[in-house]
Amino acid sequence: MSTTTTPTQNPIAATDPEIWQLVDAESKRQATTLEMIASENHVSAAVMAAMGSCLTNKYAEGYPGRRYYSGTGFYDEIEQLAIDRACELFSCKFANVQPHSGANANFAAFLALMQPGDTFMSVVLSEGGHLTHGSPVNVSGLWFKPVHYPLVKDESRKDCGYIDYDEVARLAKECKPKIIMCGYSAYPRTIDFKRFREIADSCGALLVSDIAHIAGLVAAGVHPTPFGHAHVVTTTTHKTLRGPRGGLIMTNDPELAKAINKAVFPGCQGGPLMHIIAAKAVSFGEALKPQFKDYAKRIVANGKALAAALTKRGQKLSSGGTDNHLVLVDLRPNFPDLTGKQAATWLENAGIVTNMNTVPNEQRSPLQTSGVRLGTPALTTRGFNESHMDQIAGWIDRVLRSNGNEATAKTIRADIAALCAKFPMPH
Ligand SMILES: *Cc1c(COP(=O)(O)O)cnc(C)c1O
Repeated sequence: MSTTTTPTQNPIAATDPEIWQLVDAESKRQATTLEMIASENHVSAAVMAAMGSCLTNKYAEGYPGRRYYSGTGFYDEIEQLAIDRACELFSCKFANVQPHSGANANFAAFLALMQPGDTFMSVVLSEGGHLTHGSPVNVSGLWFKPVHYPLVKDESRKDCGYIDYDEVARLAKECKPKIIMCGYSAYPRTIDFKRFREIADSCGALLVSDIAHIAGLVAAGVHPTPFGHAHVVTTTTHKTLRGPRGGLIMTNDPELAKAINKAVFPGCQGGPLMHIIAAKAVSFGEALKPQFKDYAKRIVANGKALAAALTKRGQKLSSGGTDNHLVLVDLRPNFPDLTGKQAATWLENAGIVTNMNTVPNEQRSPLQTSGVRLGTPALTTRGFNESHMDQIAGWIDRVLRSNGNEATAKTIRADIAALCAKFPMPH
């Protein structure tokens, strides 16, 4: 259902006005504010329609040609199309399109490649890693042993804020991990997959690349691909890839592919979400079109423009800038008393939706933080360009320097709503 559908056209409005009112209000919120959460995007009407289709009614446990229920003929074709398109998009041999989310994709990969108690390496959550990369509250940290490799934290080094590859190599020799994870949630720089593979080979580890954030950039060739280096690649489908909320696992190795398929089903999931798999196929089809390459290039151009415009205004960025869709503002030098939580609230009041984020060498708790994470994928989908990034950086700078002034937020919010009116949501 398109977000532009009016209440009278929408079946939810007729049967459940209480929920409809909230959906409608949310659609207005999205239309009138700047969506700058780096992990979010706006899907096409076709992707949205596939998610809202009759495919949700069916059980199709198993894989194409090997199902446990009758009536699954069309589902075999849909899932095979999703698999074929994923393989074409990322130039790989095997894809499992069933993981319900990125977290499930990572859990299935761990289940396929490790035994409980095995050691693996990753970046800790507070330095840009993900919950599923060994957090003590997640199964990845409860059942497996994470050893975290650091970012460079010496401010006098020009690669401060970058992955400390020498330390990755040293730790890998020391702890002999089963898996080395690379791929992050708040890392603004290009990942050197070749270097990671050399390190993995030096200690007999498998390289797992989690490209959840950068999948769209990889698909379009504006970030180097992990294929040819990583043994297994996991991702979400809903971030820069601009598909439905979901997960995906890929490999070129037939033995690993078998283990991954078993780990997803029956290992840790039941019936696949076939409406979501159809929506994945639709989004992969969109990403295979030439326009998507252009979209991904504009995401990065906007990221760099945003970083430059913030730097010009005296804001401090973690690692000094960005190579991708993501910018991490370090509030500490300019606003030592301002938490990321407070800053994100002020920005939201002004119509700029972001999230608080920890920064390297973080002293505050993950519920307060000293940083704000910004992203350009959703803004770029709406058609905002580099000159808008300068305007938006100006607003962000003003909000942060206004000390939460309500009148300033109100003025900016009105200006943003006026600008947004010229950039309608995809429909
Ligand atoms: C977003 C993300 C995930 C998890 O995605 P969900 O779909 O929210 O489970 C996994 N890994 C990384 C690096 C991510 O950024």
